[in-house]
Amino acid sequence: PWAEELVRDGDASAGRRVQEEILPENIEENLRRLTSVPHIAGREMDLGQAEDLRDRWLQYGLDSARLTPYDILLSYPSSDENSPSRVTLMEADGTVVIQSQVEEAPLDQWQDDPNIVPPFNAYSGSGDVEGELVYVNYGRVEDFFHLQRDLNIDPSGKICIARYGSIFRGDKAEKAEQFGCLGLIIYSDPADYSARDYPVYPDGWMLPPSGVQRGTLMIAQGDPLTPFYPANEYAYRLTEEEAKVVAGLPGIPVHPIGFGVGIELLRHLAGDEAPEDWRGDLNITYRTGPGFQQAHAGRRVRLQVNVQNEVKRTYNVIGIIEGSVEPDRYVIMGNHRDAWVFGSVDPSSGTAVQEEVARAFGKLKQEGWRPRRSLVFASWGAEEYGLIGSTEWVEEYSKVLQERAVAYLNVDIAALGNYTFRSSASPAMFQSVFEATKKVPDPGVNPAGSSYSSLYDSWAAKVPKDEGDPNSLPNIGQLGSGSDYTPFFQHLGISSIDFRFICDPAVLDYYALYHSSYETFDLVKNFIDPEFKVHQAVGRVLAEMALDLADSLVLPIDPTVYSTALQDIAESVRTEYSTQFDAQSISMEYLDSAVSNFTRSALRLKDRMSNIDKKNPLAVRVVNDQLMQLERGFIDPLGLPGREWYRHVVYAPSAHNSYAGQAFPGLADAMFDIENAANQTQRWEEVKKQLAIITYTVQSAATAIEEGG
Ligand code: GLU
Ligand code: CA
Ligand code: ZN
Ligand code: ZN
Repeated sequence: PWAEELVRDGDASAGRRVQEEILPENIEENLRRLTSVPHIAGREMDLGQAEDLRDRWLQYGLDSARLTPYDILLSYPSSDENSPSRVTLMEADGTVVIQSQVEEAPLDQWQDDPNIVPPFNAYSGSGDVEGELVYVNYGRVEDFFHLQRDLNIDPSGKICIARYGSIFRGDKAEKAEQFGCLGLIIYSDPADYSARDYPVYPDGWMLPPSGVQRGTLMIAQGDPLTPFYPANEYAYRLTEEEAKVVAGLPGIPVHPIGFGVGIELLRHLAGDEAPEDWRGDLNITYRTGPGFQQAHAGRRVRLQVNVQNEVKRTYNVIGIIEGSVEPDRYVIMGNHRDAWVFGSVDPSSGTAVQEEVARAFGKLKQEGWRPRRSLVFASWGAEEYGLIGSTEWVEEYSKVLQERAVAYLNVDIAALGNYTFRSSASPAMFQSVFEATKKVPDPGVNPAGSSYSSLYDSWAAKVPKDEGDPNSLPNIGQLGSGSDYTPFFQHLGISSIDFRFICDPAVLDYYALYHSSYETFDLVKNFIDPEFKVHQAVGRVLAEMALDLADSLVLPIDPTVYSTALQDIAESVRTEYSTQFDAQSISMEYLDSAVSNFTRSALRLKDRMSNIDKKNPLAVRVVNDQLMQLERGFIDPLGLPGREWYRHVVYAPSAHNSYAGQAFPGLADAMFDIENAANQTQRWEEVKKQLAIITYTVQSAATAIEEGG
């Protein structure tokens, strides 16, 4: 039987069985329990929910489940109730026009919980500043450029107000500080967080005027005190002052507010009318400032922020079902557990799904089944602060993971809407997610979506790669950052995927109640997925992918998808930069040749995969090792310039928006705004250097997937 098991190619019935085992009513019950209390990182429920999850996983039949504690720097509103963070608009004589509330309005029965953390931005600087107000749109670098270069408005020494959306809030804070703002207020504009003609919470899922988006300002790299190393008991910790420099935590005060106050701040701003794409949906004329119009000329804005950083303990839970043949190969399914408040969408929708998937696999195991490779379930702590639990674990186990991890599958939010599926992934994961979504029925919750048979069909139709082509593949985004795949993918080069269900982009880009205290069980039950069929579908995709990766004899990774992706990236570099490159006599010839070499090597590897002698375990392991290590080929141990923790040469978070992926980031960063760079020669030398590094890395990755000998 062992010899048979050694060469067994999957188990035809396991997929069907695991799909049948994943039940919407269980996910609903999980979600109800998880959202019954606020569960922010580092407070009581971090440990409580971690222990509960460990116990459940053991009860479901996982081979092991344990907690991994880390002591990390977290951030909370000051415990001094007399000095809350707030924004005040005052007349010249000091009379208060409007002041932000400490808490969101009590719109439902959940809001009187004393454990709800008031709206704040984690790791903000503390301070009390007063000044003129300038509106900076989304606070993107291009917005600040536009202000300074085209509108001649200098934000330095002013209090800046940005709207949420478009980019990661940590980048807004970083840019605001770089451009000299005294402080930054971030508000949610209805244009981005409330669709017209839809009711606001609790009658609907749109953002009410008092709703506020909490969120971290740290541009992720784990615990700020222990960069590159795990925050364990013998860790060497930086001082907070050192950490601020190393981790780039903001020095200025930053505070989030709702549009109920936002509108009053913006209403009488002076200056020209804001550019058209800067105008939101408030019923005012958007102006840039600085300062206020004549009739209100003496008005001032005061921003008081009191945020405290503290070393606190957070917990991951790691559960394992050991592989029968290759227990030293890991397929990891991760989700974070910590939420800003109740977290019914972010992340508990995912936690509820992950728990049900663990139960389903546990059931199969108890019935005598085992996957070929090990299944690892990971529940991360302190993601909201900057992917801390996952990063510390990846740092602690980096050697083992880089030698043995096959793939990392991330489900953060399982469903922020019921429209269709969405994914960002390494090209190494495309084949597997296509196969998995073809096997999962479309949950068909929204009326327009009920006619698709598979989830794949709905996904391909609603998110096509080639708009207008009825046979288009689904579009899959590039991985940037913003959730726990980052340390696996960007730091170690482990092939990763992130997926979820989204809402209809014609209504909203993202869900309105994100990181507010109105992310309650009722939000999900009443408006997103009353029957939990969308959640079930996401769980089924996760299970099918994990099964495919853990139980197929030959890994379901198509190396030619990666070469196609590289060709596309090289092509877009050419389109974007060829004029500038030509002017500098920079040739892309070597890069092109490295990409063709990779393409040829990928084809040959694919060929070896299809001609493999499946009865020869050694031959199978040889090919699988190369497939597993394929992504590692793109890691540069020295990291990207200025942000060495990010080591993937092909993909990184954009330097201007952490949420977005940037292909060939070293090159993109060197080219950014190069025409305005002070030292032209130096910058072009940097471009040449980055081009050479990319060329070398792609060539090395090609060599690594060639047949040995
Ligand atoms: N997911 C969290 C957020 O969007 C953390 C993201 C990050 O630190 O990269 O706020
Ligand atoms: Ca660390
Ligand atoms: Zn999340
Ligand atoms: Zn979040």
